[in-house]
Amino acid sequence: MALHLLSRPEPEVPPARPVLADDAPRFLLLEREVEVVYRPQMLAALQSKVNAVAAATRDTAPLCPQCGQPMRCQDTREVSWWARCGCLHAPVSRYRCPPCRYECRPLLDLLGVEPGRISGALARLLALLATVAPYPLAARLAWLLLGVTISPMGIWRVTQRLGEAAARHSDALSRYHADSRSSGAPTQAAPSAVVLGVDGCSLGMQVRSQRRHRQAGGTLPPLPPIEEGRFREVKTGVLLLPGERVETSPGRRSVVRRFLVTCLGDADAIFARLYAQLRELGWVGAHTVVVIVGDGAEWIWNRAAMFVRRCEILDFWHAVEHAWEFAQLRYGEGSAQADRWVNAIAEDLRAGKVQEVITRLKRVRPKTPELRESLQALIRYYSENAGRMRYDEYLRLGYGIGSGAVESAHKQVVHARFRQAGMRWSEAGARRLLALRLLLLNENWALLDRLRMVSLA
Ligand SMILES: [Zn+2]
Repeated sequence: MALHLLSRPEPEVPPARPVLADDAPRFLLLEREVEVVYRPQMLAALQSKVNAVAAATRDTAPLCPQCGQPMRCQDTREVSWWARCGCLHAPVSRYRCPPCRYECRPLLDLLGVEPGRISGALARLLALLATVAPYPLAARLAWLLLGVTISPMGIWRVTQRLGEAAARHSDALSRYHADSRSSGAPTQAAPSAVVLGVDGCSLGMQVRSQRRHRQAGGTLPPLPPIEEGRFREVKTGVLLLPGERVETSPGRRSVVRRFLVTCLGDADAIFARLYAQLRELGWVGAHTVVVIVGDGAEWIWNRAAMFVRRCEILDFWHAVEHAWEFAQLRYGEGSAQADRWVNAIAEDLRAGKVQEVITRLKRVRPKTPELRESLQALIRYYSENAGRMRYDEYLRLGYGIGSGAVESAHKQVVHARFRQAGMRWSEAGARRLLALRLLLLNENWALLDRLRMVSLA
């Protein structure tokens, strides 16, 4: 008797196995046929363009960048590299300036390729796949989308080299803007207000005293077990214009544009990046109010002081959550009374009546020491943050009162790629991939076309 997983009455006619057509649809076959024919032709066309560049530069000795003298040709060797349509090659001369001990291969620099490596558009596409998917899955996608056979390790290598280029560029930009002599974008068109928010989470890091080396047999020794508690904080900062928030459906808001920054590091580093991005955008003029939305963490308010014209907002939901803690203790978890009590507080807070709320809380007579302590903590929290809880005003000015946009941005930057099951990151690996992810999410991927891949030992 057949094993039935679902207890359903059996139909009278036995089921027919789904039929697959003998062939794929004709158009699909035509597409694939043309691709097979044209790929070698593309390779040949590309090779002849490379040959032309090589021929044009063959007889010009470069000048030494250090002493300005013409350099001497040392040797010329055939070099090859990989592109989407196959393997390309060119005769590459090595030049040397003996007094300065400076060496270069101008043709490789001009082409932006590296011997034996994947280069050009294919390298950027592979890095793009790894920016959205884990390395093994990215390797599968490379085969399915690009017809390229590559190992997860191969994808990893390309991603590191382009990621390093992107990370160095973004580091350099924030160092540049940290110097008061730098020039930012023009600020004549600066908005009247900019919303700035920061969120963070921790990443599981690899614990490895030294790199693993391939043994004679060819396989890598296994990774050592992960120690508990090896985590690094990763922070995401978001910039947006309050005027660009739109209500897509009742109660649901989204933003037209937002700019993200991220870093694996401390509070100062993320604020340096936010500042650099604001200068790049020309978003802070003499009259711009910088609206800082925070969850109450002291480090955010401490750094917020760097903006002279600012408006600090305590995230509304964090404010309400604190009321919840006390209400559940007082009325019991999930009780209707707790619900009503918190709703009344939330409504008053939203109406800007934080002082009234504090006065009312001070009149409550808690019955146990535990309740008293919880109440005191709540009163203290509201009193300390009262200046950041003028929610009626923020709503009227269109600043918004929540940090939802920041939290969702952080999830998109970090959680979606970095916090999947069992993932552990090296410091450099995380930093490079974060830089690439930002290019993608900030719609700035084309920047990679203007960055040289970094050779990593
Ligand atoms: Zn020289």
